[in-house]
Amino acid sequence: NKTLQQFLQEAASQFPNKIAIHFLGKELTFQEVYKQALKLANYLVKLGLKKGDRVSIMLPNCPQAVISYYGVLFAGGVVVQTNPLYTERELEYQLKDSGAEILITLDLLYPKAVKMKAITNLKHLIITSIKDYLPFIKKLFYSLVQKKQQQVIVKVKEQEDQHLFSSVMAFSEAKEMEVDIDPVEDIALLQYTGGTTGFPKAAMLTHRNLIANTVMGAYWMYQCEKGNESILGVLPFFHVYGMTAVMNLSIMQGYKMILLPKFDPETTLKTIQKLKPTLFPGAPTIYIALLNHPKLKNYDLSSIKACISGSAPLPVEVQEKFETVTGGKLIEGYGLTEASPVTHANFLWDGERVKGSIGVPWPDTEAKIISLETGEEAKINEIGELVVRGPQIMKGYWNQPIETEAVLRDGWLYTGDLGYMDERGYFFIVDRKKDMIIASGYNIYPREVEEVLYEHPKVQEAAVIGIPDVYRGETVKAFIVLKQGEECTKEELDHFVRSRLAAYKVPRIYEFRKELPKTAVGKILRRVLIEGEKK
Ligand code: ATP
Repeated sequence: NKTLQQFLQEAASQFPNKIAIHFLGKELTFQEVYKQALKLANYLVKLGLKKGDRVSIMLPNCPQAVISYYGVLFAGGVVVQTNPLYTERELEYQLKDSGAEILITLDLLYPKAVKMKAITNLKHLIITSIKDYLPFIKKLFYSLVQKKQQQVIVKVKEQEDQHLFSSVMAFSEAKEMEVDIDPVEDIALLQYTGGTTGFPKAAMLTHRNLIANTVMGAYWMYQCEKGNESILGVLPFFHVYGMTAVMNLSIMQGYKMILLPKFDPETTLKTIQKLKPTLFPGAPTIYIALLNHPKLKNYDLSSIKACISGSAPLPVEVQEKFETVTGGKLIEGYGLTEASPVTHANFLWDGERVKGSIGVPWPDTEAKIISLETGEEAKINEIGELVVRGPQIMKGYWNQPIETEAVLRDGWLYTGDLGYMDERGYFFIVDRKKDMIIASGYNIYPREVEEVLYEHPKVQEAAVIGIPDVYRGETVKAFIVLKQGEECTKEELDHFVRSRLAAYKVPRIYEFRKELPKTAVGKILRRVLIEGEKK
C-alpha cells in the first residue's frame, strides 16, 4: 500500500550518500534528490496545487526531470509527461486535454511555454536553465529541442506566474509532505500514447500500476544487487519505458542513474567506457546504431551485464552481435503504455531463452491469445490478438470512456497486437493488427518482411508498409537505410528476399532513404511513412 514517492523517501534513508544521478559530470545523492523533490513539492502546494491536479513536465533526461516527477507526486499531483519535441499543435492538445495548470520546462522552450500559457489552462510556468547543468554540452540539448541550433536562450525573469527552478531549490523548504493518497485508486501519471498510430490519448496509470511494474522488473532481475548497480538512462523519461525501466527502477532499487539528455551513439559509447554502467535498457534502433558505429571496436563495453530491449521487435542478429560485443545479455521484452509498460520478457539468467520470442508473462501477469474469428481463446500457435491482465494495467484512458471500453474488457487489456503462443507458453508478436497488409487476399505481416531485410548484410534499417494497389488491394513497399558506405540495388534486395519469402510477401517497391522517422524511443514510425505515401 505504498505510494511511488515513498520509494524515494526509503532510498534516501537507506542510501543517503549513495549517488542517485550522474549527469554529465555532476552528481546528486539519494538524499539530495529527495530533499530537492520535497522543496519543489512544498512550492507547488504554495502555488495552489491540490491533490489530483495535473502538472506537465516537459524536460529531456536531466536531474530536474527526476526531481520534478517525484516533487509533483509528493505534492499529491498527477504527472503529465510531455515530449520536449512536440510541435505547438501537439502541445496545445495535450495541455488542454490533461487540464494541466503548471508546466515545468527548460529555458530553451520558454517561448513555446509562454504561447501555451495564453491559450490553455496553464497558470504557472517553472523554468529551469540548461546553464545550471550544461555549459559544455549545449549542442546535444539544442539538437534535441529543435533542428536549427541557433536558438537564443531567453533570460527568464521571475514573476507571479513565472518561477525559476533554481530559486525554488534555493529558497523553498524541504518539509515532509502529508497527502492522503490511495495507491490503488489514485492516478500518479497521465502518459500519452498514440505515437505510432496517430490519435493521442492518455493512459491513467495509478501508483499501484507503476509500482507493480517496477517490482516485477526488480524481481525479474533478481541477481542485481540493491544499491549496487548503475543503469544507463538514454531512454527518455517522458516516455513510459524509460520512466519505469530506468527512473522508477533505480529509485526503488537504489541504483545509480547515468543520464544522457539524448541518444547519440558516440556519446553513449564514451559514457559506457568511462562510467561503466551495468544495466542498459534500450530499443532495437539504439543497439543497431551502436553496432554500426565505425569506432565501436575502440570502446570497452564489458561493464554491461544486462540489457532489455523493448518497444519494437529485436532482430535476432542484433541481439547476438550486441551480446558478443558487451559480453552481457540482451533480452527482448514487450510492453505498451497502457501496461506501465512491461508485460513479457525472455528469461534473463535462467530458463530457456527463445529467440524471436517476447518471452513469457512477467510475475503476476496473465496473458492469452484471442482468436480473431471466434473471439475465444486461440489454439496453440494460432495467430490472434494478445490480451493481458495484471496489476500494471491502466485504469483507463483519461476522458475517453468509449476508447477505454474498447480496450479494457473484464480486466483484460486488448493490446491491438497480433501474436501467438507456442506449446511451451512462449509468446511471439507477429505485428500490429492495424499494420497488417492485405494483398490479393493474403495477410502479410510487415515485421516478417523487415526481419528478412535486416538479414541482408548491407541493410541498417528497414520498414515495410502496405500501399494502395488497384489490382492487389494493397501492395508491399520497403523503405531501406543502408549501412554507412554501402551501395545496393533494388534488384539485389529483391533477389535476396525472393529466395527467403513467399512471392506474395516480396516488396514490389523499394525506396532508399538516409534515415527513417522515429519516435522518442527510436521506434520506426510506419504511420509517417504511410502518410507520406498519401501526399
Ligand atoms: P500507439 O501504440 O498508441 O500507436 P506508441 O507506439 O507510442 O503508440 P507504445 O505504448 O509506446 O505506443 O508502444 C507499444 C507498442 O509497441 C506495442 O503495442 C507493440 O506494438 C510494440 N512493441 C513493444 N515491444 C515490442 C516487441 N518486443 N516486439 C514487437 N512489438 C513491440
